Amino acid sequence: MSIKQVFKRTGGWLYLNTPLGRHPLRGAGVILMLHRVLNNDRAAELPHRNELCVGPEAFEHLLIWLQRHFECVPLMTLLLADPESVPNRPRVALTFDDGWRDNATNAFPLLRQYQIPASIFLSTDFIGSRQPFWWESIGETLWGSHGQAARQPLIEQLQHAGRPLPVMLDDLDEQRRSVSLLHYLHSLKTLDPHTLSHLTDACPRGAQPQALDWFQVRMLEDSGLVRFGPHGASHAILTGLDDQRLHEELGRSRIALENGCAQPLPVYCYPNGNHDARVRQQVAAHGFAFALGTETGLYRNDGDPLNVPRFGVSQHNAHQPELLAWRISRGARP
Ligand SMILES: [Zn+2]
Repeated sequence: MSIKQVFKRTGGWLYLNTPLGRHPLRGAGVILMLHRVLNNDRAAELPHRNELCVGPEAFEHLLIWLQRHFECVPLMTLLLADPESVPNRPRVALTFDDGWRDNATNAFPLLRQYQIPASIFLSTDFIGSRQPFWWESIGETLWGSHGQAARQPLIEQLQHAGRPLPVMLDDLDEQRRSVSLLHYLHSLKTLDPHTLSHLTDACPRGAQPQALDWFQVRMLEDSGLVRFGPHGASHAILTGLDDQRLHEELGRSRIALENGCAQPLPVYCYPNGNHDARVRQQVAAHGFAFALGTETGLYRNDGDPLNVPRFGVSQHNAHQPELLAWRISRGARP
C-alpha cells in the first residue's frame, strides 16, 4: 500500500471514529451509487470493470462496515429527513443504476441477509428484454470474454466506425490491457446511439439477459427492502435529446415504472449523470420531486432536489471502505 493510501485510510478512519471527525456529517446524508455486483471479486478488480462492478466479498465487507458506522435507511427516508432530527449516526442510502440482473442474483441475497434497504434505477427498455448494454457487450467482447473469434468482427466494425483499436489493447500485461480498454470504452461514449447499437449487434449474446426482468423487479419490491425508479428508457444521454425525444424518453420510463411496480419512487436518476436546466425542468414536469446525479457530495436538504449528489462505489473502495470514508470526508468540506 502506498503512503498516500495509508494516509487516506487513516484519515477516513479518524473521520468516522471520532466525534470531531463526524461533526461535518451532522444532519447530512450519504447516498452511494453502485451498478453491478459480480459473482467474483478478482473479475471485478480489473480496471475496466472496477468503476461499475464490485465482487461479492467486497460488497459484503462494505455492508458490514456501513452497518457499523451508519444508519442504513431507504432513499426516501434520507431525502425527506427532518433536518432538526439528527440521528446518532449519519444516514446512508444505497442506490444501483441501470437494472443489472446481478442486482437480484448477487446483491439482493446479501441485502436481505443484513436487512439493508436499497433503490434500483431502471433503464426501462432493457428490463425484461435481451437488449444488451453497449458498454458491457463491447467491453467484454474486446476483452476476449467470448473468445478470440468473437473479437475480430467487432474490431472490423469499430475500424469502420472510425474508432480503430489502440495497439495497447493487445498488451500482454493484463492490468495495462484493462486500463487501455477502460480509456477506449470512455472514448466510445461520444459515438451516436445508432452506431453504438450497431456495434453492440456485432457482439455475441451471452446465455443470460444482462438486465432484470419485471418478475424479478416485483419479487424484489415485495421483499419490502427494495424500491425502483427510472434511469431513462433507452439510457440515452438526456442533454443530447431534442424537446420531443426528451419528453418521450421521460414519459416512456415513467409509464414503464408505473406499470411494473406497486410503488415507484418519485425520484429520477440521470443516465450517465448528465442534466441541464431544460432536462431538470422536464423531469419536474413529469412529476419527479427529486433527481440523482453523479456529482460527488453529501445530501443536505438545502441543495437542488433535482441535482442530488452521490458517492460512487468501486471494487477498490468497497474492499477498503476507509477510502470511501476519506472521499465522504472530502465531500463534507464546504
Ligand atoms: Zn447508467
